[in-house]
Amino acid sequence: MINNITLESYKKIAPKGTIDLAYSLAKRLKGKSVLHVNSTRLGGGVSEMLHRLVPVFNDLGIKTHWKVMEGTLLFYQTSKSFHNALQGQKQDITQEMFAEYNRINQKNASKISFDSELTIIHDPQPAGLVYKKSKKTKWLWRCHIDISRPQWKIWNFLKDYISQYDGLIFSLPSFAQKLNIPQFLIYPSIDPLSDKNKDLSNEEIDSIMNKHNIPQDKAIILQVSRFDRFKDPLGVIEAYKLVKKYNDCCLVLAGSEATDDPEGPQVLREVKEAAAQDKDIFILNLPPDANVEINALQRKATVILQKSTKEGFGLTVAEAMWKGKPVIGGAVGGITVQIIYGQTGFTVNSIEGCAFRIRYLLNNPEISADMGQKAKEYTRRNFLITRHLCDYLALMVYLLNA
Ligand code: UDP
Repeated sequence: MINNITLESYKKIAPKGTIDLAYSLAKRLKGKSVLHVNSTRLGGGVSEMLHRLVPVFNDLGIKTHWKVMEGTLLFYQTSKSFHNALQGQKQDITQEMFAEYNRINQKNASKISFDSELTIIHDPQPAGLVYKKSKKTKWLWRCHIDISRPQWKIWNFLKDYISQYDGLIFSLPSFAQKLNIPQFLIYPSIDPLSDKNKDLSNEEIDSIMNKHNIPQDKAIILQVSRFDRFKDPLGVIEAYKLVKKYNDCCLVLAGSEATDDPEGPQVLREVKEAAAQDKDIFILNLPPDANVEINALQRKATVILQKSTKEGFGLTVAEAMWKGKPVIGGAVGGITVQIIYGQTGFTVNSIEGCAFRIRYLLNNPEISADMGQKAKEYTRRNFLITRHLCDYLALMVYLLNA
């Protein structure tokens, strides 16, 4: 339970029957325990979800722990290179880096107790912990990134670890791999009652706009993302510049740093350079827990972008849609299951296409509002924490009670 929010609190929001389903599945898991391991407590979508899901599992009587692995700078550089390579970018990964990956996984393994019935390892960073798996326990590897076209050298290295798991969870069918273990599809989710997504008053929203000196007399184009090249912040600036020739508007790029992403500061410098001459571009480097601020920006924005060139899922899309905004997103990965073209937003393949759709939404506020309502309802049915919880519980019943 966080801030008096219990599972009952979601009854009015989640589709009918979801909470009852969660209770009945949880009954079949009495006494079971789960451990989640990832590589950062703050920053990025995985920690965003674990912060919300872990307490709900505990409320249901399933003992759930969350451990964060600790690394060195070389380890995080290595795991970011793995991340880039798995998403298809060419990377030079040295023997020293592979050795550091193994060393840090072994070091963390000695500090964590793995006696839960189910261990869920998130993403490549802690995947190597699996050598600690005992026969009595089940382990799942949950991959949150797009590994549909990986660099094979890295995938082959990781595959030796992954094939020791009892199963894999992906965010999109096209991310599945040729492996001899079962693969499951679970979409990520947002929590409508978290600080990131709860309703805010106009006063709260205005005070946050004033704090960052964001003008309220012109349209606001927003992208919320870590400063990461796959999120294409430079492409967003280019698209904004095309729009700006015709529509008076400002651009807000809100980002924060994740402790496991050492590339962030360099990308931020490039973004600042690209924006330097324009006083209508606002680059906000926020603390990673600035949830109410992100919420306010998403609520105030006229058009929200997620112009990624690779994306595992893209929680920011669901967050924006939940606030009644259609989203313009790169036609990649998980963005394509959230944006239904022309209904909940537009997927785009180029800077020009992005600019064209921004102008379309700016020039047609009624259509935009209508699409925003559809986006909210679509999110309610498909991408809320309550659906996510039921998917996890159903998988656990299958794995642990079989
Ligand atoms: N986020 C945030 N502050 C920022 C940038 C991002 O709180 O400055 C949050 C964002 O709202 C979302 C998560 O971090 O909840 C990012 O998840 P997503 O799946 O979009 O991308 P990832 O960073 O995991 O690739």
